[in-house]
Amino acid sequence: MKFSNTYIDLGEKFFQRSAPQKSPSPELLLWNSELASRLQVPEKLASDHEVLSQYFSGNKQPKGAEPIALAYSGHQFGHFNPQLGDGRAHLLGEVLDSNDVRRDIQLKGSGQTAFSRRGDGKCALAPALREYIMSEAMFALGVPTSRCLAVVSTGELIHRGLAKAGAVVTRVAASHIRVGTFQYFAARGDITSLNVLLDYSIERHFPEITRSDMDSTSPSREQCILGFLEKTIAKQITLVVEWLRVGFIHGVMNTDNTAISGETIDFGPCAMLGIYHENAVFSSIDEYGRYAFASQAKIAQWNMARLADCLLPLLIEADQSDHDNKEQQALAKVETLVVDFTAKFERAYDEMYAAKLGLAQVNATNKHLVKDLLALMQTHALDYTLTFAQLTKQINNARLLAVDVWVNELPSELEGWFKQWQLAIDKSVFSRQEAQALMQKNNPVVIPRNHHVETILAHCEEAVSDCLNQNSLDAFTVINNIVSEFLQVLCSPYQELEATKSYQDKPEDGDQYYQTFCGT
Ligand code: AMP
Ligand code: MG
Repeated sequence: MKFSNTYIDLGEKFFQRSAPQKSPSPELLLWNSELASRLQVPEKLASDHEVLSQYFSGNKQPKGAEPIALAYSGHQFGHFNPQLGDGRAHLLGEVLDSNDVRRDIQLKGSGQTAFSRRGDGKCALAPALREYIMSEAMFALGVPTSRCLAVVSTGELIHRGLAKAGAVVTRVAASHIRVGTFQYFAARGDITSLNVLLDYSIERHFPEITRSDMDSTSPSREQCILGFLEKTIAKQITLVVEWLRVGFIHGVMNTDNTAISGETIDFGPCAMLGIYHENAVFSSIDEYGRYAFASQAKIAQWNMARLADCLLPLLIEADQSDHDNKEQQALAKVETLVVDFTAKFERAYDEMYAAKLGLAQVNATNKHLVKDLLALMQTHALDYTLTFAQLTKQINNARLLAVDVWVNELPSELEGWFKQWQLAIDKSVFSRQEAQALMQKNNPVVIPRNHHVETILAHCEEAVSDCLNQNSLDAFTVINNIVSEFLQVLCSPYQELEATKSYQDKPEDGDQYYQTFCGT
């Protein structure tokens, strides 16, 4: 792996140098070979578990890695905290992947840093494995996301109420620049660093903003700032629409967990929607449902407004005119973009649901169909994934049939709606075959259902504790035996494999008691 660290070039204000804490007896548990080959990890290294466990526990630094903890602030549940930062993560550096895209390689759970506040800098095994499983599932579903390269158990017990096995998860992301990174410098009135951060973010994520073609002049500073905001907003819209498409609830959409790259990051208290309810919330700390399933767009827009706040001083600075209302002018410009979020989101949302229903176009009738379907699902407590998967299967039927035991409640409740949908399909320019193909691409047959994820994690925790007690067991083999079938199924979410059926069932209790926690 060839490490570089362009983030270090931004200057000392952006990070603190920090060495990962050594683990007493690191053991590789999961290794993402597919991602490793994208990152051009040499074969020899990728097959040496001993060396991998040293590197990805933080015990040994790969050549060229310069571990740092990044500085950032953040609005947490609406309250601003000026001093957050990586309290349990170390950015080892960046690696160019096989498409020449720069990827951050970050250890999480690798010990305290200057930003740890009162935390221990550690991560428990189950949340580390959870991040691996969830991010791989999201990746396969086609949702923009960070990924995990490895999970290593540290051999150390950490304290989370009970003693838990500790682990380090290696996260791979397009970058770790967050809305909160901009807020960190804006809160300190550090305009110079804000400019540096903006230039770096544009170069890394939106180089097209400054790229000038032969016959056009290079963009003004104001155009760069507004172009950056517009493109960041567009990425957030795509992200949230994708979350809604697959039924993902992030759970903690604080501005420090909002990546400028538009990737899903920080899988702490996330969950998947089972029974459809727009107000579905699973996070134990989300008391007032701020981050409920259907509130995610509104929150993303709010987060973009916080990013816009940070860009105001840069716009004012860039204004070369001599009028005295530069502030209002700057405000009006960012406001237009933030307000436009709503219409752009709605368009993307309508298109996404049209595709989920195999419809070629968004029109008033089709929008009604979506609204009515969601309302019916909510009233009759229908499962989000199974309903769309069944509609996909049954598009050619004259009547909705109870073909599968796990959806036998569908027909009577959706019959009236089904007829309306059939009429819309008939009017569409798509053939039934085309409509079905579109639906198959947009409606997963399997998602990482909460109860299956939890069952697998409980098995893994048990197995690792057995391995710790009886050194003879090979933890890698044991863990891979537990997770590999599940991961294989999750990696083909639009296709039914032989084992898919084992993971499609609804939870017996409808997830009504399911709760997620932050402690990743
Ligand atoms: P998160 O919940 O992962 O988004 O974290 C929010 C903030 O708390 C970040 O600044 C983390 O680095 C910090 N944090 C969370 N858990 C720990 C921990 N165990 N030790 C130190 N810092 C932590
Ligand atoms: Mg976070």
